[in-house]
Amino acid sequence: MRSYKIALIKGDGIGPEIIDEAVKVLDAVSYAEGFEIKYDEFLLGGAAIDAVGEPAPKETLEGVKQADAILFGAIGGDKWDNLPRDKRPETGLLKLRKELEVFANLRPVTVYDELVNASTLKPSVIQGVDLVVVRELIGGIYFGQPRENNGERAYNTMVYTKSEIVRIAKVAFETAMKRSKRVCSVDKANVLDVSQLWRDTVEEVAKEYPEVTLTHMYVDNAAMQLIRDPKQFDVILTGNIFGDILSDEASMLSGSIGLLPSASIGEKYGLYEPIHGSAPDIAGQGIANPIATIASAAMMLRYALNEESAANRIESAIKQTLQDGYRTQDLSAFDAKEVCSTSEIGSIIANYASK
Ligand code: NAD
Repeated sequence: MRSYKIALIKGDGIGPEIIDEAVKVLDAVSYAEGFEIKYDEFLLGGAAIDAVGEPAPKETLEGVKQADAILFGAIGGDKWDNLPRDKRPETGLLKLRKELEVFANLRPVTVYDELVNASTLKPSVIQGVDLVVVRELIGGIYFGQPRENNGERAYNTMVYTKSEIVRIAKVAFETAMKRSKRVCSVDKANVLDVSQLWRDTVEEVAKEYPEVTLTHMYVDNAAMQLIRDPKQFDVILTGNIFGDILSDEASMLSGSIGLLPSASIGEKYGLYEPIHGSAPDIAGQGIANPIATIASAAMMLRYALNEESAANRIESAIKQTLQDGYRTQDLSAFDAKEVCSTSEIGSIIANYASK
Protein backbone atom coordinates (compact mmCIF):
# COMPACT_ATOMS: atom_id res chain seq x y z
CA MET A 1 0.00 0.00 0.00
CA ARG A 2 1.24 3.52 -0.81
CA SER A 3 2.15 5.23 2.45
CA TYR A 4 3.01 8.88 3.14
CA LYS A 5 4.31 10.88 6.09
CA ILE A 6 2.74 14.27 6.66
CA ALA A 7 4.05 16.82 9.14
CA LEU A 8 1.21 18.72 10.81
CA ILE A 9 1.73 22.17 12.26
CA LYS A 10 -1.53 23.22 13.85
CA GLY A 11 -0.27 26.53 15.26
CA ASP A 12 -2.44 29.03 17.14
CA GLY A 13 -5.99 30.40 17.24
CA ILE A 14 -8.23 28.48 14.85
CA GLY A 15 -5.20 26.50 13.53
CA PRO A 16 -5.91 23.30 15.52
CA GLU A 17 -9.65 23.35 14.65
CA ILE A 18 -9.13 23.66 10.90
CA ILE A 19 -6.24 21.17 10.70
CA ASP A 20 -8.36 18.56 12.51
CA GLU A 21 -10.97 18.88 9.76
CA ALA A 22 -8.37 18.60 7.00
CA VAL A 23 -7.07 15.40 8.63
CA LYS A 24 -10.62 14.04 8.77
CA VAL A 25 -10.99 14.62 5.02
CA LEU A 26 -7.51 13.26 4.22
CA ASP A 27 -8.29 10.09 6.15
CA ALA A 28 -11.53 9.67 4.21
CA VAL A 29 -9.94 10.08 0.77
CA SER A 30 -6.86 8.00 1.54
CA TYR A 31 -9.11 5.15 2.64
CA ALA A 32 -11.24 5.50 -0.50
CA GLU A 33 -8.19 5.64 -2.78
CA GLY A 34 -6.28 2.85 -1.02
CA PHE A 35 -3.28 4.66 0.43
CA GLU A 36 -2.16 5.45 3.94
CA ILE A 37 -1.13 8.70 5.64
CA LYS A 38 0.83 8.87 8.89
CA TYR A 39 1.03 12.16 10.76
CA ASP A 40 3.69 13.77 12.96
CA GLU A 41 2.89 16.96 14.84
CA PHE A 42 5.30 19.89 15.26
CA LEU A 43 5.15 23.20 17.12
CA LEU A 44 5.54 26.63 15.53
CA GLY A 45 4.54 30.19 16.43
CA GLY A 46 2.82 31.06 19.69
CA ALA A 47 2.31 27.42 20.65
CA ALA A 48 6.07 26.88 20.33
CA ILE A 49 6.87 30.06 22.29
CA ASP A 50 4.66 28.85 25.14
CA ALA A 51 6.14 25.34 25.10
CA VAL A 52 9.84 25.95 24.50
CA GLY A 53 10.38 29.72 24.47
CA GLU A 54 11.00 30.27 20.75
CA PRO A 55 8.78 30.54 17.67
CA ALA A 56 10.70 28.16 15.38
CA PRO A 57 12.29 25.39 17.45
CA LYS A 58 15.14 23.45 15.85
CA GLU A 59 13.16 20.26 16.34
CA THR A 60 10.43 21.65 14.05
CA LEU A 61 12.80 23.10 11.44
CA GLU A 62 14.62 19.76 11.14
CA GLY A 63 11.75 17.38 11.93
CA VAL A 64 9.40 18.55 9.18
CA LYS A 65 12.08 17.76 6.59
CA GLN A 66 11.55 14.06 7.24
CA ALA A 67 7.96 14.26 5.97
CA ASP A 68 6.68 14.01 2.38
CA ALA A 69 4.86 17.32 2.86
CA ILE A 70 3.81 19.78 5.55
CA LEU A 71 0.25 20.85 6.30
CA PHE A 72 0.09 24.07 8.28
CA GLY A 73 -2.79 25.86 10.04
CA ALA A 74 -1.97 29.40 11.15
CA ILE A 75 0.06 31.19 13.80
CA GLY A 76 -0.10 34.38 15.83
CA GLY A 77 -2.29 36.21 18.31
CA ASP A 78 -2.45 39.21 20.65
CA LYS A 79 -0.82 37.25 23.43
CA TRP A 80 2.56 37.36 21.67
CA ASP A 81 2.26 40.77 19.96
CA ASN A 82 4.46 42.63 22.45
CA LEU A 83 7.47 40.34 22.11
CA PRO A 84 10.54 41.64 20.23
CA ARG A 85 10.22 41.04 16.46
CA ASP A 86 12.67 38.11 16.35
CA LYS A 87 10.71 36.31 19.08
CA ARG A 88 7.25 36.72 17.57
CA PRO A 89 5.17 33.91 16.02
CA GLU A 90 5.36 35.44 12.50
CA THR A 91 9.16 35.28 12.63
CA GLY A 92 8.80 31.54 13.20
CA LEU A 93 6.87 31.15 9.96
CA LEU A 94 9.32 33.28 7.96
CA LYS A 95 12.16 31.16 9.37
CA LEU A 96 10.42 27.93 8.41
CA ARG A 97 9.80 29.13 4.84
CA LYS A 98 13.41 30.22 4.52
CA GLU A 99 14.75 27.00 6.05
CA LEU A 100 12.71 24.90 3.61
CA GLU A 101 13.58 27.25 0.73
CA VAL A 102 9.98 27.28 -0.41
CA PHE A 103 10.46 30.08 -2.89
CA ALA A 104 7.19 29.79 -4.81
CA ASN A 105 3.83 30.58 -3.27
CA LEU A 106 0.87 29.48 -5.39
CA ARG A 107 -2.50 30.95 -4.53
CA PRO A 108 -5.35 29.83 -6.75
CA VAL A 109 -8.46 32.00 -6.64
CA THR A 110 -11.61 30.21 -7.69
CA VAL A 111 -15.01 31.79 -7.45
CA TYR A 112 -17.59 29.13 -6.65
CA ASP A 113 -20.81 29.68 -8.64
CA GLU A 114 -22.86 29.13 -5.49
CA LEU A 115 -21.09 32.03 -3.78
CA VAL A 116 -21.07 34.70 -6.49
CA ASN A 117 -23.23 36.81 -4.20
CA ALA A 118 -20.72 36.53 -1.36
CA SER A 119 -18.23 38.88 -3.01
CA THR A 120 -18.35 42.63 -2.56
CA LEU A 121 -18.11 42.87 -6.35
CA LYS A 122 -20.96 42.38 -8.82
CA PRO A 123 -21.65 38.74 -9.81
CA SER A 124 -21.11 39.66 -13.48
CA VAL A 125 -17.54 40.77 -12.67
CA ILE A 126 -16.52 37.73 -10.69
CA GLN A 127 -18.51 34.78 -12.05
CA GLY A 128 -16.05 32.40 -13.68
CA VAL A 129 -12.89 33.92 -12.16
CA ASP A 130 -10.15 31.30 -12.09
CA LEU A 131 -6.65 32.63 -11.59
CA VAL A 132 -3.43 31.77 -9.77
CA VAL A 133 -1.06 34.20 -8.13
CA VAL A 134 2.52 32.90 -8.23
CA ARG A 135 4.39 34.93 -5.64
CA GLU A 136 8.13 34.82 -4.91
CA LEU A 137 8.28 34.04 -1.21
CA ILE A 138 11.79 34.11 0.23
CA GLY A 139 13.44 37.10 -1.45
CA GLY A 140 12.70 40.75 -2.12
CA ILE A 141 12.19 43.49 0.44
CA TYR A 142 11.10 41.21 3.31
CA PHE A 143 14.53 39.62 3.42
CA GLY A 144 16.87 42.12 1.68
CA GLN A 145 19.95 43.43 3.48
CA PRO A 146 20.84 45.97 4.71
CA ARG A 147 17.87 46.89 6.85
CA GLU A 148 17.72 49.24 9.81
CA ASN A 149 15.54 51.29 12.10
CA ASN A 150 17.58 53.60 14.35
CA GLY A 151 14.57 55.51 15.66
CA GLU A 152 15.24 58.48 13.33
CA ARG A 153 15.66 56.77 10.00
CA ALA A 154 14.59 53.35 8.81
CA TYR A 155 15.02 51.43 5.59
CA ASN A 156 14.63 48.04 3.95
CA THR A 157 16.22 46.88 0.72
CA MET A 158 14.49 45.23 -2.21
CA VAL A 159 16.96 42.78 -3.76
CA TYR A 160 16.43 40.13 -6.43
CA THR A 161 19.13 38.15 -8.16
CA LYS A 162 18.68 36.86 -11.68
CA SER A 163 18.66 33.24 -10.52
CA GLU A 164 15.88 33.96 -8.00
CA ILE A 165 13.78 35.52 -10.76
CA VAL A 166 14.47 32.67 -13.20
CA ARG A 167 13.30 29.97 -10.79
CA ILE A 168 10.05 31.69 -9.83
CA ALA A 169 9.33 32.63 -13.46
CA LYS A 170 9.72 28.98 -14.46
CA VAL A 171 7.13 27.96 -11.85
CA ALA A 172 4.72 30.53 -13.32
CA PHE A 173 5.27 29.37 -16.91
CA GLU A 174 4.96 25.70 -15.93
CA THR A 175 1.73 26.52 -14.10
CA ALA A 176 0.41 28.39 -17.14
CA MET A 177 1.22 25.43 -19.41
CA LYS A 178 -1.31 23.39 -17.41
CA ARG A 179 -3.93 26.14 -17.64
CA SER A 180 -4.86 28.62 -20.35
CA LYS A 181 -1.24 29.49 -21.16
CA ARG A 182 -1.16 33.14 -20.14
CA VAL A 183 1.26 34.79 -17.71
CA CYS A 184 0.96 38.39 -16.56
CA SER A 185 4.15 39.49 -14.80
CA VAL A 186 3.57 42.30 -12.32
CA ASP A 187 6.33 44.75 -11.36
CA LYS A 188 7.12 48.44 -10.98
CA ALA A 189 9.72 48.65 -13.76
CA ASN A 190 8.90 52.29 -14.49
CA VAL A 191 10.43 53.26 -11.12
CA LEU A 192 12.47 50.40 -9.62
CA ASP A 193 15.76 49.01 -10.98
CA VAL A 194 15.06 45.70 -9.32
CA SER A 195 11.81 45.52 -11.30
CA GLN A 196 13.65 46.21 -14.57
CA LEU A 197 15.88 43.19 -13.91
CA TRP A 198 12.72 41.23 -13.05
CA ARG A 199 11.07 42.22 -16.35
CA ASP A 200 14.16 41.54 -18.52
CA THR A 201 14.69 38.16 -16.88
CA VAL A 202 11.05 37.09 -17.22
CA GLU A 203 11.29 37.99 -20.94
CA GLU A 204 14.31 35.69 -21.26
CA VAL A 205 12.59 32.80 -19.48
CA ALA A 206 9.52 33.28 -21.68
CA LYS A 207 11.58 32.26 -24.74
CA GLU A 208 11.64 28.70 -23.31
CA TYR A 209 7.82 28.68 -23.32
CA PRO A 210 6.77 29.82 -26.81
CA GLU A 211 3.20 28.57 -26.28
CA VAL A 212 2.65 30.90 -23.33
CA THR A 213 1.57 34.49 -23.91
CA LEU A 214 3.46 36.86 -21.61
CA THR A 215 2.25 40.33 -20.69
CA HIS A 216 3.61 42.83 -18.16
CA MET A 217 1.67 45.10 -15.86
CA TYR A 218 2.68 47.72 -13.30
CA VAL A 219 1.59 46.78 -9.81
CA ASP A 220 -0.63 49.83 -9.31
CA ASN A 221 -2.51 49.02 -12.51
CA ALA A 222 -2.72 45.33 -11.52
CA ALA A 223 -4.35 46.28 -8.21
CA MET A 224 -6.94 48.22 -10.19
CA GLN A 225 -7.47 45.60 -12.93
CA LEU A 226 -8.07 42.84 -10.35
CA ILE A 227 -11.16 44.71 -9.22
CA ARG A 228 -12.20 46.07 -12.64
CA ASP A 229 -11.94 42.85 -14.66
CA PRO A 230 -10.39 39.90 -12.80
CA LYS A 231 -11.37 37.44 -15.54
CA GLN A 232 -8.59 38.81 -17.76
CA PHE A 233 -6.00 37.01 -15.58
CA ASP A 234 -4.79 33.42 -15.71
CA VAL A 235 -1.38 33.28 -13.99
CA ILE A 236 -0.09 36.38 -12.20
CA LEU A 237 3.67 36.23 -11.59
CA THR A 238 5.09 38.66 -9.06
CA GLY A 239 7.61 39.34 -6.29
CA ASN A 240 7.23 38.99 -2.56
CA ILE A 241 5.70 42.27 -1.39
CA PHE A 242 3.54 42.89 -4.49
CA GLY A 243 2.35 39.27 -4.32
CA ASP A 244 1.49 39.60 -0.65
CA ILE A 245 -0.78 42.54 -1.32
CA LEU A 246 -2.29 41.39 -4.64
CA SER A 247 -3.05 37.88 -3.44
CA ASP A 248 -4.98 39.21 -0.43
CA GLU A 249 -6.85 41.54 -2.75
CA ALA A 250 -7.56 38.65 -5.14
CA SER A 251 -8.76 36.50 -2.25
CA MET A 252 -11.66 38.83 -1.62
CA LEU A 253 -13.02 38.10 -5.10
CA SER A 254 -14.13 34.75 -3.70
CA GLY A 255 -16.13 36.25 -0.85
CA SER A 256 -14.38 34.79 2.19
CA ILE A 257 -10.78 34.53 3.22
CA GLY A 258 -11.82 31.19 4.74
CA LEU A 259 -12.05 29.55 1.30
CA LEU A 260 -8.64 29.97 -0.26
CA PRO A 261 -5.73 27.55 -0.12
CA SER A 262 -2.06 27.99 -0.91
CA ALA A 263 1.01 25.94 -1.63
CA SER A 264 4.55 27.07 -0.92
CA ILE A 265 6.92 24.99 -2.96
CA GLY A 266 10.69 24.68 -3.28
CA GLU A 267 13.13 22.24 -4.90
CA LYS A 268 12.80 19.78 -2.01
CA TYR A 269 9.94 20.69 0.31
CA GLY A 270 6.33 21.82 0.17
CA LEU A 271 4.30 23.71 2.76
CA TYR A 272 0.52 23.76 2.33
CA GLU A 273 -1.55 26.30 4.20
CA PRO A 274 -4.72 28.41 4.10
CA ILE A 275 -4.10 32.03 3.17
CA HIS A 276 -5.79 33.38 6.27
CA GLY A 277 -4.32 33.91 9.72
CA SER A 278 -5.15 32.44 13.11
CA ALA A 279 -8.39 34.45 13.48
CA PRO A 280 -8.10 34.88 17.28
CA ASP A 281 -11.48 36.67 17.29
CA ILE A 282 -13.30 33.42 16.49
CA ALA A 283 -10.89 30.80 17.88
CA GLY A 284 -12.38 28.06 20.04
CA GLN A 285 -15.97 28.79 19.02
CA GLY A 286 -16.32 26.06 16.41
CA ILE A 287 -17.32 28.55 13.71
CA ALA A 288 -14.13 28.83 11.62
CA ASN A 289 -14.41 27.86 7.98
CA PRO A 290 -12.07 24.88 7.39
CA ILE A 291 -12.47 24.90 3.58
CA ALA A 292 -9.24 26.83 2.86
CA THR A 293 -7.27 24.26 4.84
CA ILE A 294 -9.09 21.30 3.31
CA ALA A 295 -8.43 22.76 -0.17
CA SER A 296 -4.76 23.19 0.82
CA ALA A 297 -4.70 19.48 1.68
CA ALA A 298 -6.00 18.81 -1.85
CA MET A 299 -3.13 20.87 -3.30
CA MET A 300 -0.75 18.84 -1.12
CA LEU A 301 -2.11 15.58 -2.52
CA ARG A 302 -1.71 16.90 -6.07
CA TYR A 303 1.70 18.58 -5.92
CA ALA A 304 3.58 16.72 -3.18
CA LEU A 305 2.13 13.21 -3.30
CA ASN A 306 1.00 13.01 -6.93
CA GLU A 307 -2.41 11.72 -5.78
CA GLU A 308 -4.41 13.61 -8.40
CA SER A 309 -7.54 11.52 -8.06
CA ALA A 310 -7.68 12.06 -4.29
CA ALA A 311 -7.16 15.80 -4.81
CA ASN A 312 -10.03 15.89 -7.31
CA ARG A 313 -12.25 14.05 -4.85
CA ILE A 314 -11.69 16.75 -2.24
CA GLU A 315 -12.25 19.62 -4.65
CA SER A 316 -15.47 18.06 -5.95
CA ALA A 317 -16.62 17.42 -2.38
CA ILE A 318 -16.09 21.09 -1.48
CA LYS A 319 -18.14 22.17 -4.53
CA GLN A 320 -20.88 19.67 -3.70
CA THR A 321 -21.04 20.87 -0.09
CA LEU A 322 -21.47 24.47 -1.19
CA GLN A 323 -23.94 23.50 -3.92
CA ASP A 324 -26.06 21.70 -1.32
CA GLY A 325 -26.23 24.86 0.75
CA TYR A 326 -24.05 23.92 3.73
CA ARG A 327 -22.23 27.01 5.03
CA THR A 328 -20.08 28.00 7.96
CA GLN A 329 -21.03 31.21 9.69
CA ASP A 330 -18.80 33.50 7.55
CA LEU A 331 -20.95 32.52 4.53
CA SER A 332 -24.28 32.15 6.29
CA ALA A 333 -25.81 35.11 4.48
CA PHE A 334 -25.28 33.54 1.05
CA ASP A 335 -27.94 31.01 0.05
CA ALA A 336 -27.40 28.89 3.15
CA LYS A 337 -29.74 25.95 3.60
CA GLU A 338 -27.98 24.97 6.79
CA VAL A 339 -25.40 26.82 8.90
CA CYS A 340 -22.82 24.33 10.18
CA SER A 341 -20.03 24.25 12.69
CA THR A 342 -16.39 23.77 11.67
CA SER A 343 -16.57 20.11 12.53
CA GLU A 344 -19.93 19.53 10.79
CA ILE A 345 -18.68 21.05 7.52
CA GLY A 346 -15.53 18.90 7.79
CA SER A 347 -17.64 15.76 8.21
CA ILE A 348 -19.91 16.64 5.27
CA ILE A 349 -16.90 17.21 2.98
CA ALA A 350 -15.24 14.00 4.22
CA ASN A 351 -18.43 12.08 3.53
CA TYR A 352 -18.80 13.41 -0.04
CA ALA A 353 -15.09 12.88 -0.70
CA SER A 354 -15.24 9.26 0.30
CA LYS A 355 -18.03 8.37 -2.20
P1 NAD B 1 -6.90 36.68 9.98
O1 NAD B 1 -6.81 36.13 8.60
O2 NAD B 1 -6.54 35.79 11.09
O3 NAD B 1 -8.39 37.21 10.24
C1 NAD B 1 -8.99 38.25 9.48
C2 NAD B 1 -10.52 38.15 9.60
O4 NAD B 1 -10.96 37.02 8.83
C3 NAD B 1 -10.99 37.91 11.03
O5 NAD B 1 -12.21 38.58 11.21
C4 NAD B 1 -11.23 36.42 11.08
O6 NAD B 1 -12.21 36.02 12.01
C5 NAD B 1 -11.64 36.09 9.66
N1 NAD B 1 -11.21 34.74 9.28
C6 NAD B 1 -9.95 34.32 8.99
N2 NAD B 1 -9.93 33.02 8.72
C7 NAD B 1 -11.20 32.60 8.80
C8 NAD B 1 -11.82 31.34 8.64
N3 NAD B 1 -11.13 30.23 8.31
N4 NAD B 1 -13.15 31.25 8.83
C9 NAD B 1 -13.89 32.32 9.14
N5 NAD B 1 -13.35 33.55 9.30
C10 NAD B 1 -12.03 33.69 9.16
O7 NAD B 1 -5.99 38.00 9.98
P2 NAD B 1 -5.64 39.00 11.19
O8 NAD B 1 -6.83 39.17 12.08
O9 NAD B 1 -5.03 40.16 10.55
O10 NAD B 1 -4.50 38.27 12.01
C11 NAD B 1 -4.73 37.45 13.16
C12 NAD B 1 -3.41 36.80 13.55
O11 NAD B 1 -3.01 35.89 12.50
C13 NAD B 1 -2.25 37.79 13.70
O12 NAD B 1 -1.48 37.40 14.80
C14 NAD B 1 -1.47 37.66 12.40
O13 NAD B 1 -0.13 37.98 12.55
C15 NAD B 1 -1.67 36.18 12.13
N6 NAD B 1 -1.50 35.79 10.71
C16 NAD B 1 -0.97 34.58 10.49
C17 NAD B 1 -0.87 34.11 9.19
C18 NAD B 1 -0.31 32.75 8.97
O14 NAD B 1 -0.20 32.00 9.91
N7 NAD B 1 0.00 32.37 7.75
C19 NAD B 1 -1.32 34.90 8.11
C20 NAD B 1 -1.90 36.14 8.39
C21 NAD B 1 -2.00 36.58 9.70
